Amino acid sequence: MPNADNINRSRQIVKVSTIGIITNALLAAFKATIGILSNSIAIVLDAVNNLSDALSSVITIVGTKLAGKAPNREHPYGYGRVEYLTTVVIAVMVLTAGATSLKESIAQIIQPETPDYSPLSLIIVGVAVVVKILLGTYFKKRGKTLDSAALVASGQDALMDSIISISTLVAALVFVFFGLSLEAWLGVIISIFILRAGYEIIKDATAKLLGERADGELTKAIKSTIKEIDGVLGAYDLILNDYGPQRLWGSIHIEVADNMPATQIDALSRQIQELAYKKHQVILHTVGIYSQNTDKTSVSLKNEIYQFIKKHQEVLEIHGFYIKPDANDITLDIIIGFGSKNRQELLNTISSELMAKYPDYHFNITLDSDISD
Ligand SMILES: [Zn+2]
Repeated sequence: MPNADNINRSRQIVKVSTIGIITNALLAAFKATIGILSNSIAIVLDAVNNLSDALSSVITIVGTKLAGKAPNREHPYGYGRVEYLTTVVIAVMVLTAGATSLKESIAQIIQPETPDYSPLSLIIVGVAVVVKILLGTYFKKRGKTLDSAALVASGQDALMDSIISISTLVAALVFVFFGLSLEAWLGVIISIFILRAGYEIIKDATAKLLGERADGELTKAIKSTIKEIDGVLGAYDLILNDYGPQRLWGSIHIEVADNMPATQIDALSRQIQELAYKKHQVILHTVGIYSQNTDKTSVSLKNEIYQFIKKHQEVLEIHGFYIKPDANDITLDIIIGFGSKNRQELLNTISSELMAKYPDYHFNITLDSDISD
């Protein structure tokens, strides 16, 4: 949901991106001119690259603006994921730039053209290198602070470009002093680097769109915040859905004493929601409840059964254990890791082992997934 922080964030992103657009457009204009005058394909490619960077900043701005749209009936989780889509668009542009320069470079290897550098053109390329390094570092720094993958990606791209410009400069100097033209071969290497950068960016953004494992540091911190609250005996099954940068929605299960009244559980779950948002900026829309036996006999039976099940190394966690009084009915959840070959089969094995060892009890076992740390 857009709040003051989000609005300020998008303003900052727009500001940083505008600086990028102006700088890159200027660099592109200078380089295109000297590239054409010096008959240097490497410098012209470099200019094209700068132009695509300016365009990617435009896309970042558009993405941030669209993502800031308020939630509505059709999209109650807001438009935050638009930013991941725009990052994919930027990656596609980087990939296209890489493929184009690869094609041009190979054409140059087959049919070389002789470049003709003037000292001024070399100075301009040199200045451009410095500008790109400064711009790239600035983008990356601001992108990390503002939690904007698109900005970080653009920054990475700019640093990559400065390497490209440095090699263009080196190739030009080699030509001037030794009469050896390395441009085309250099172009091939540059293209491979550009293609790789594009692939890395697209991989990250698509992972976010598909839904990926939540950051372990964050999930562990949220769980420990909740476990510290009075009355919470355990915290499990934390689910976090990423609806865009700084928009995490989720749910959690907690264990409470079986004699806790509903009024207290109500207050407790509200307290958990409030703390999760205040400390971690996470919206927990549901707090599910597992009741925990308070009597000594149940507790010792529970520990015994936990030990028994944990013989299986693929069992990562057991929770939600409850014995219904007078009914000999036991409920529990077992997390079996994704690494296990057949999770359902292992659950069946555990279930029959339990029935054989504790014939007086009836077991209701839920198979949980290892969704977060
Ligand atoms: Zn569970």
